[in-house]
Amino acid sequence: MKHEENLEINYRKKIALVAHDNKKRDLLEWAKFNAGVLKAHDLFATGTTGEILEKKLGLSIRRLQSGPLGGDMQIGALIAEGEIDFLIFFWDPLSAQPHDPDIRALLRMAVVWNVPVACNRATADYIISSSLMNEQYARILPDYKSYKDRLKS
Ligand code: PGA
Repeated sequence: MKHEENLEINYRKKIALVAHDNKKRDLLEWAKFNAGVLKAHDLFATGTTGEILEKKLGLSIRRLQSGPLGGDMQIGALIAEGEIDFLIFFWDPLSAQPHDPDIRALLRMAVVWNVPVACNRATADYIISSSLMNEQYARILPDYKSYKDRLKS
């Protein structure tokens, strides 16, 4: 028997924004184009990404640690707590990152909890222009009961 639950996502979304250094310009351009939409939601970002978006676009953002200092893990933890509705994560495919394990962990948490992730501008465009942006949405929380119960009895 399935024990899947839904998490009700409100009209006002909780959006996490992260960009590696070589992708910050991309994210800034994307966020500038979509600033009107983004302003209507609750924004979270890793430290430097958040600082740039606040300064250049005047967005109000909950800034976490810089990615390599734990910011990715903080966003991963927020995902596990159901506090992030989607993630815009422009990671750099051409440069090695000191916090590669954290990046993998963040992407993994998004998959574990069925959180939409955009890793490039085209995907981010599709997400932000989705009709679901203006609706409530019942996000399925995968059923981990059998995993949690695996050592019982
Ligand atoms: P930053 O972190 O926004 O503080 O640069 C992003 C990252 O490298 O994960």
